[in-house]
Amino acid sequence: MPTQIPAPPTAAPTARRANRARRSLNAQSIVDLLRASGPQSQAAIARRTELSPAAVNKIVQALKDEGTVQIQWINGREALVELVPKHGTIVSVNVGPQAINGAIFAFGANRRIDLEITDPARIGGPDPVVTLVRELAAQAGVAVGDLAGVSVAIQAPIDRASGGIIAPWAAMRLPRWKDVPIATMLGEALGVQVAVDNDANLGALAEWTWGAGRRSDCFLYVACSVGIGGGLVVDGKLHRGGNGMAFEIGHVVLDANGPVCFCGSRGCLSTVASERSILLALQGSESPKNSLAEVIAAAQAGDPICARVLYEAGRQLGRALANMTKILAPSVIAVGGTLALAGDLVFGGIQTAIEENNVPAFSSSVQLRPAQLGRDATLLGGLSSVMGDLGQGLSDLPPWMLDAHRLDLPSVAVAL
Ligand SMILES: [Zn+2]
Repeated sequence: MPTQIPAPPTAAPTARRANRARRSLNAQSIVDLLRASGPQSQAAIARRTELSPAAVNKIVQALKDEGTVQIQWINGREALVELVPKHGTIVSVNVGPQAINGAIFAFGANRRIDLEITDPARIGGPDPVVTLVRELAAQAGVAVGDLAGVSVAIQAPIDRASGGIIAPWAAMRLPRWKDVPIATMLGEALGVQVAVDNDANLGALAEWTWGAGRRSDCFLYVACSVGIGGGLVVDGKLHRGGNGMAFEIGHVVLDANGPVCFCGSRGCLSTVASERSILLALQGSESPKNSLAEVIAAAQAGDPICARVLYEAGRQLGRALANMTKILAPSVIAVGGTLALAGDLVFGGIQTAIEENNVPAFSSSVQLRPAQLGRDATLLGGLSSVMGDLGQGLSDLPPWMLDAHRLDLPSVAVAL
């Protein structure tokens, strides 16, 4: 039986944006610069914010006193200003149709704890998310009300106006979330600030903050697994579009006469490069498989049928990325998800399509890279999002913040 959500606590959710509100605009612009560009010398900060060196020095000292930044000496000569995490505790949760997983990051103790719910009888709707957050807090020895923030990633697009899952996705993939104003409901149930976003958006934010897209000014991320999702980070901010549906690259149409997609269109990228479409392509061949991981393992062991299907999926993905590149002119494109684990088998197809579509003529400096954070990207993106809301940041990820089991990364030599 699912755990029931208890009555909302009497105390209203605590406003957690105090740091951002209290700081001057100039101080916040320095924090934002450090979040976007990593550690900087005071001279560089003055140049890039157009503040006077004296003003920068005064603000950096104040930020140091409040514990937001620290000074790091490089080779005993150059002093760099970098962000440090507050001694807060943040929970990040990822909700999908088959599993809910989450992690609690306790900065005071330099400790991360992960939990997962995969029992089908316990999954569905907000109740298990509330249970998971409470259990994570209990294991970390923190009261839920003392959490600095909670991020919830949903494997579906989120409508900005309603705060719920866009209707067709809820109906097809997560029916027990239909018409649920997610952040409000979870915030009231837990008594803390809850931020909700699409899982691929948060994956993009993590890869931009700490991974393949680090410090790029226009970063495009696509993750191909059971479904295909992506995110776009421009000038350090996720671009969500008017209703939150921006960059649904999985539903870019590649073949108007192709298979029908669950979104109601035909020939979407999701119908030719998702796990399901790859398995369908192998049905009736002499090498049918039950999962994308099996396909990749067989291809890497020399199965030419599986290798061909993966190459073709990469080529279709490359066509979609080529079209996106001509519109958005990204500086970096990162490809993640299970499909990327096929490494060169898939990236070869992507590169072929990029050359066929003559992308370098439109965007000569674009770099194609494998994503770096593996299956940990979404949870880390939630963490980055909450830290951003709190006006905090972290220039580098210390080892304790990573889940080593989720860092399964492709072996690939990308040349573009
Ligand atoms: Zn579609």
